[in-house]
Amino acid sequence: MPAESFTSTPPFFNGSDRIAVLLPLPLAGAYDYLCAGQPLRPGDFVSAPLGGRWVTGVVWGPGRGDVEPSRLKRVGPRLEASPLPKVTRDFIDWVASYTLAAPGAVLKMAMSVPSALEPAAGQTAIRLSAAPPEAPRMTPSRRKVVEALAALPPLSVTDLAREAGVGPAVVRGLVEAGVLETVELPRPSRFSPPDLDRPRAELSPAQRDAADALVAAVGAGFSVSLIDGVTGSGKTEVYFEAVAAALAQGAQVLVLLPEIALSSQWLERFKRRFGVAPAQWHSELGDAARRDTWRAVAEGDAKVVVGARSALFLPFADLGLVVVDEEHDQAFKQEDGVSYHARDMAVVRARLGGIPAVLASATPSLETMANVQGGRYRLLALPDRHAGAVLPEIRAVDLRRQPPPRGRWLSPVVVQALEEAFAAGEQAMLYLNRRGYAPLTLCRSCGHRLQCPHCTAWLVEHRSAGRLICHHCGYHIRLPPQCPQCEAEDSFAACGPGVERVAEEAQFLFPTARLAVMTSDTCVGPGAAAELVQAMAEHRIDLLVGTQIVAKGYHFPLLTVVGVVDADLGLEGGDLRAAERTHQLLSQVAGRAGRAERPGRVFLQTWQPEHPVMRALCTGSRDSFIAREAELRRDCAMPPYGRLAALILSGPDAAQLDGFAARLSRLAPHGEGISVLGPAPAPMALLRGRHRRRFLVKAPRSENLQQLLRRWLAQAVAPSGVRVQVDVDPYSF
Ligand code: ADP
Ligand code: ZN
Repeated sequence: MPAESFTSTPPFFNGSDRIAVLLPLPLAGAYDYLCAGQPLRPGDFVSAPLGGRWVTGVVWGPGRGDVEPSRLKRVGPRLEASPLPKVTRDFIDWVASYTLAAPGAVLKMAMSVPSALEPAAGQTAIRLSAAPPEAPRMTPSRRKVVEALAALPPLSVTDLAREAGVGPAVVRGLVEAGVLETVELPRPSRFSPPDLDRPRAELSPAQRDAADALVAAVGAGFSVSLIDGVTGSGKTEVYFEAVAAALAQGAQVLVLLPEIALSSQWLERFKRRFGVAPAQWHSELGDAARRDTWRAVAEGDAKVVVGARSALFLPFADLGLVVVDEEHDQAFKQEDGVSYHARDMAVVRARLGGIPAVLASATPSLETMANVQGGRYRLLALPDRHAGAVLPEIRAVDLRRQPPPRGRWLSPVVVQALEEAFAAGEQAMLYLNRRGYAPLTLCRSCGHRLQCPHCTAWLVEHRSAGRLICHHCGYHIRLPPQCPQCEAEDSFAACGPGVERVAEEAQFLFPTARLAVMTSDTCVGPGAAAELVQAMAEHRIDLLVGTQIVAKGYHFPLLTVVGVVDADLGLEGGDLRAAERTHQLLSQVAGRAGRAERPGRVFLQTWQPEHPVMRALCTGSRDSFIAREAELRRDCAMPPYGRLAALILSGPDAAQLDGFAARLSRLAPHGEGISVLGPAPAPMALLRGRHRRRFLVKAPRSENLQQLLRRWLAQAVAPSGVRVQVDVDPYSF
């Protein structure tokens, strides 16, 4: 039971009371209904009629509309499910109001499992009948079943048939004959409680200090702590102490990871520490697991949930701690539908619940650092790698001085380092944040480039799949035998490298090396990434070539050499966050090297070794880099020093879209420190056949940006076909 039921008595509705019911749909707000003679509380799940169908919604509070009671519809009976806790409802309201999303669209994220609200099904099992018939017909197979069951607890039909070595029809025949009977057993919980008494890691003094601070924060109300620790410093071990403390107090814990499908090593560590697997929450869960998990979280049976950002909206019965690991990671920002940043919303969730939030990173975001400097977040530093491991030596390889041979992508320096690693029985990694074989395919005779017809994007050649693919909409073609523009035959050339091409070169240079490619294309389906990680950990792979998914917190003790094929990738373009993001990504990649006894070396192939990002990485001067970036942001009043929202307008008709953008532009808010940039083509000016324009709205921190946006947007109704998407705190700007 959530604590709130004891501290405040929620108002009860009854009789013909008017109540507001929030439906999980993108409507303007909650709709009023009549109570229909049953006692209801806020948070109760009810079904409600809406335009000829029934929708499951949540009682949100007293009705307040001005529709005459006689015209209101009555809700259906209350559903048998734990009511949505008050803090979850407050959180939904808060997120909706901050992101300008429809509250129902946010509720939908909390209810992404409608069947969770159906009564829990037990499971049917078979046992010996209590009153068997006197002389049943018994065949040898029937006898086997009865004998097997004599020594076993009730089993399902299939399990029993398997145990007895007969077909399921035999079992069913025995049930029909009355020799066996069926019983309903409660479904066993798949969420065993964590074991808090297992041997734990001996913490270093710095780790101990950080862990003590976190443990003291557990149960002591709202606070935010940042574990700022270099890669391999033991941040996970440290926050596991806080997890243990919260569990010891009987509370639930939520750990957010940027990409749960890539977190097999994390799950292993959790199991080692707590003896059980945590409950998982992510988009690839099957329906049954999703339903069981949702219920177990609501009922307080699932003690630890590890999940992607959407896990924030689970109806925790008694959440006591939220951890956001790799808090800087871009994956925490959701851009489709309700656009929110899970790290920031985790802090809000903690504040509403009066509990601590813990953020962890080796490269904290500028936003988080500003909060540390402003005294709002507590800083816990882990400056050294665990067990005397040293940070890798990072060098820039100047491509102007040490270029790869023509038509190749690996500089001789990198090739030599790979050779040395393999000769020493060590492992290496090549990193290039580009899927496929080549990012651009060009006609050698006329220069025509193969482009997606629906997006502002080149088609990317995936040679292993024999296709050119648009990474934004999935459109794909085979390589045309003839240039569609100049009709030249066989004239297309692959330009630039993708991971497949780098892997091809590496395999050519090191024919005996065991090589694997790790990208979202090669890691399809659950377990594929885990399998690769396992193979790497067991040294069944010598060289791992991959995109940013190789950078995700993995610990490979034998990995000593990391080569970054194109360190400049991501720095071009006008995005103000480009340097910060590139620094974070490359630090993470570099952080994979030399995590155990053998020291690591990292090579950054770059055309601009003097770039502040390369300098910061090579000299290990992260803090001065962050300070300089912060200065730049402060100078132009950009986040975290000002408020920012992006408005993306999209539609199939460019002229109509531009017309609406011009109208909005004339109505744009103005005032002290407020500026509206745009309309300009959005970063993807054409996406899935829709044209896109962007406004950026900048306001001082003292300004209520949401109110400003609401007033502005209320003045102009978008023509049909045009969609307006608000992105408060956009990731890129
Ligand atoms: P980070 O998250 O900071 O990169 P990890 O928590 O992954 O670091 O720790 C790096 C490695 O060191 C892991 O294999 C971890 O199990 C090990 N480790 C960290 N601290 C300790 C400790 N106090 N005792 C034993 N092993 C530790
Ligand atoms: Zn496309």
